[in-house]
Amino acid sequence: LFITVEGLEGVGKSTNLAFVEQWLINKGLEVETTREPGGTALAEDIRELLLAKRDEPVSQTCELLMMFAARAQHLSQKINPWLDQGKCVLSDRFTDATYAYQGGGREMDVSIINQLEGIVQNGLQPDFTLLLDAPAEIGLARIQSRGFTDRIEQEKVEFFDRAREGYLARAKAQPNRMHIIDASKTLEQVQTQIDATLTAFFKA
Ligand code: C5P
Repeated sequence: LFITVEGLEGVGKSTNLAFVEQWLINKGLEVETTREPGGTALAEDIRELLLAKRDEPVSQTCELLMMFAARAQHLSQKINPWLDQGKCVLSDRFTDATYAYQGGGREMDVSIINQLEGIVQNGLQPDFTLLLDAPAEIGLARIQSRGFTDRIEQEKVEFFDRAREGYLARAKAQPNRMHIIDASKTLEQVQTQIDATLTAFFKA
């Protein structure tokens, strides 16, 4: 079973990922929790390269290939072996983030992302995805009050608006897999929604 959690910065992804992890453990599943970009030593190195600040602009194609390079390593070293062992894999972000940030945010050609997805994933898709959705300004305001930087320093709010639209378009196209959670609500209300969505998924 492959489960992913997606959403823009500041939507409460980390807190709710921990909630989902505990929910799955309580369900009796053997859970491996990981993240993207990253999840292996090499893929975490690629993450650092991706998020590092430097004077040279990063070509969109370079960024996209690095995302998929990290993903290929993550799949081969961690995700696929865990799934083969019958474990439940829970990932903080996966390819939906590429459609959102590189496709939506950077307005890259989605057919190129499709091609790379085909090469790297060999048909693998998450079984279940929670999309923590809120207007970009809400998340960015929460993050700024924590003094968070990287992407937020480099991008305008429009970038995150487009990324949100990218996520929502994916969720609309794949409603059986992707479940939208209204992350603008209180944490308690968000977790009630997550609990109900997970319960319905495991009943089906
Ligand atoms: O999930 P997390 O917030 O740790 O992601 C780290 C950073 O990588 C974020 O700022 C996010 O915007 C960025 N990112 C990206 N493209 C992706 C995945 C993450 O720009 N495909």
